[in-house]
Amino acid sequence: MLVCFQPPIRMLTSIAQKFKISAIFETRINGIYSILIAQIIFIILLLVTGFLFFRKAKEIYQNIQLGRAATLNNTGGVKNMLLLALGQKKMFQNMLPAVMHGFIYVAFIITQIELLEIFADGVLGEHRLFLKSFGDGFKGFYTFIISFIEILSVLALIATFVFLARRNLLKVPRLVMPEMNGWPKLDANLILIWEIWLVVHIFLMNGADAALHPDKYNFAISANFVAPLLSGFSDGTLQFLERWGWWGHIIGVLAFLVYIPYSKHLHIILAFPNAYFLDEKPAGKVDNMPTITNEVKAMFDPTFTPEPVTDTNGTTQKFGAKDATDLTWKNLLDAYSCTECGRCTAACPANQTGKLLSPRKVMMDTRDRIDEIGKGMQKEGKDFEDGKALLGNYISNEEIMACTSCNACVQECPVTINPLDIILQLRRYQILEAAQSSEEWNVMFNNIENNQAPWQFSPMDRDKWRTEI
Ligand code: SF4
Ligand code: SF4
Repeated sequence: MLVCFQPPIRMLTSIAQKFKISAIFETRINGIYSILIAQIIFIILLLVTGFLFFRKAKEIYQNIQLGRAATLNNTGGVKNMLLLALGQKKMFQNMLPAVMHGFIYVAFIITQIELLEIFADGVLGEHRLFLKSFGDGFKGFYTFIISFIEILSVLALIATFVFLARRNLLKVPRLVMPEMNGWPKLDANLILIWEIWLVVHIFLMNGADAALHPDKYNFAISANFVAPLLSGFSDGTLQFLERWGWWGHIIGVLAFLVYIPYSKHLHIILAFPNAYFLDEKPAGKVDNMPTITNEVKAMFDPTFTPEPVTDTNGTTQKFGAKDATDLTWKNLLDAYSCTECGRCTAACPANQTGKLLSPRKVMMDTRDRIDEIGKGMQKEGKDFEDGKALLGNYISNEEIMACTSCNACVQECPVTINPLDIILQLRRYQILEAAQSSEEWNVMFNNIENNQAPWQFSPMDRDKWRTEI
């Protein structure tokens, strides 16, 4: 089938003629050259997309590597990935958004089959290559698959409108909290509008094909609901609409790929490694700090000489974390995997009782800060220093001190993120290095130090309760 991508072809042809490089582009617009030009444009777009995507992906990978080494209790691996990332197991704690998200997710996964064909068509200058390659015997199965994708796409479209309404009309509380103002809100809406764009264009492509060749393309939705809307158009217009739908869809997909690493939608990729590296230590278990263990050992045994505990770049490890680079790489991977859904914040008792703390904001701040450090290092090298830190410039003392360590945020997160781990590390720094704990806590620490218990009683009086009976 001859490819009609007339406006850019005309433009390229006239440019070619102007600069007298007509050997390739001359004369024919609807012939073999137009196919070739469309292929060239497609392959260039593909290469540019791949370059931009991998350049940003590399930047994110390098930023994650800026974190300290992590000690993970990880046995699930692939099983966790299949259950939690692919199977979306934790999504089903809340049915309506789970079902709606499920429609979009399944449509996204299954649509990759059609996308594969679109990619192959683009590179090889074909049209519906799979159908053509497998012959007429394959037609029934092909029609079934594309129809299935179309039905899923309609469900995904409905879900997209529901999500837009929840964010912009119903203003579901967890979706309109202060940290969601500005870019995060725009990002969430942009992606939903993008999804509408993709679905509309694929239906335009299939519908125009069905109107042109009703005997050949009889897909469930496009043949019955879109093609009738296009029935009055000439063959030339239908061909143009089919190409418009094809290019509109594929440009939308490629632009989406470039955009993903800049968006919270990076979770569609990072949810997989994040689930794979899930730390399965018991909920709420606080890790010992090697630096503290050394201090305690040295106190009990004067002959003990501790090895200095260094982080990945060789500097002595702090007590706790002040900046994003003091956190582990798993904390940073968590931050990049956050979907900004706010389930953690909605479940947080501190947030519910009006405190400043939002575990979602902790994750967003961590990601923004490590991004800032990464960009700074790109420009100024490894010694980049901007006088800022995660604790203080992004997250306040008031926020971290409001945490009750209840673990609800960890329990709720569908992407298996652990905001509590970051909060505890920041709090450790605040207490152990900056000596900025609250008055009540100082009293408790003194009691533990002097009385070996949090109360103001002498250890000698501990069993008095027995004698008083
Ligand atoms: S652990 Fe802290 S941040 Fe997480 S839900 Fe509980 S109080 Fe909120
Ligand atoms: S940490 Fe988890 S629950 Fe909280 S906003 Fe991010 S993805 Fe949602």
